[in-house]
Amino acid sequence: RTVYVNGAYVPEDQAKVSVFDRGFLFADGVYEVTSVLDGKLIDFGGHCKRLRRSLGELEMRLDLSDEDLLAIHRELVARNDIDEGMIYLQVTRGAADRDFVFPPEDTPPTVVLFTQKKPLIESALAARGQKVITIEDKRWSRCDIKTVQLLYPSLAKMEAKAKGADDAWLVRDGFVTEGSSNNAYIVTSDGTIVTRDISSAILSGITRQAVLECARDLQMKIEERPFSVEEAENAVEAFSTSASGFVVPAVEIDGKPIGDGKPGPVATRLRSVYIEKMRQAAI
Ligand code: PMP
Repeated sequence: RTVYVNGAYVPEDQAKVSVFDRGFLFADGVYEVTSVLDGKLIDFGGHCKRLRRSLGELEMRLDLSDEDLLAIHRELVARNDIDEGMIYLQVTRGAADRDFVFPPEDTPPTVVLFTQKKPLIESALAARGQKVITIEDKRWSRCDIKTVQLLYPSLAKMEAKAKGADDAWLVRDGFVTEGSSNNAYIVTSDGTIVTRDISSAILSGITRQAVLECARDLQMKIEERPFSVEEAENAVEAFSTSASGFVVPAVEIDGKPIGDGKPGPVATRLRSVYIEKMRQAAI
């Protein structure tokens, strides 16, 4: 693979980042994951916008414009011959002698991008539906910033796997915040889609925004509010959204079937409508 590191395109085994990089020492970095379909970028504008917000919240600089970032993404797609997959982008506060205090403002940020080939449309998980467990949300309280501080979601996912499930839904004060790396939704018996409202308790998903727009276009009812674990257990269906998963039905929660235990019609419909719409708009 060819990766991008600080202005250069290099083979992955020649790419270097300092051991003093603050991303490595402090998880002092932010990231984005953009999907590629037909060799084109899905919702690139949305990911750029959220990246700028994450950088702003952490007072982190980046000397590349959205146009520069787009050119790098496209170059990597071309060099790695990506038809379907993802592009990962990470920006850290750069390398400096280890100190909790931020390094001087002229410290250049570290910028790394790499590609991952992966079939996204033909997903076995989406076809069978995911099993989720619920676990306490023990992350910090700025989940709206997309930082590389991913240890807790990683532990949550491991716990899910250990219990024979696919993912963990995180719960704060009895209410689901989101999945370990996705936004979470339920559908109530009257067909209303319920998903957590935007706050610092969750990451504002780029896919969430686009999928809710699809749902509105389809005249589906939407409520953006917290929902409890009990409501999820009694939902007629459930699903999650993320840039790389699109829309993935959830069929089981804590070992109990959701609805009839099969991917539901709302999630299935939204998945295909979302994919079609985003494919048309890809750049
Ligand atoms: N929440 C969390 C915690 C995530 O890590 C992600 C994926 N990065 C999402 C939600 C979904 O966001 P997006 O749709 O932008 O991928």
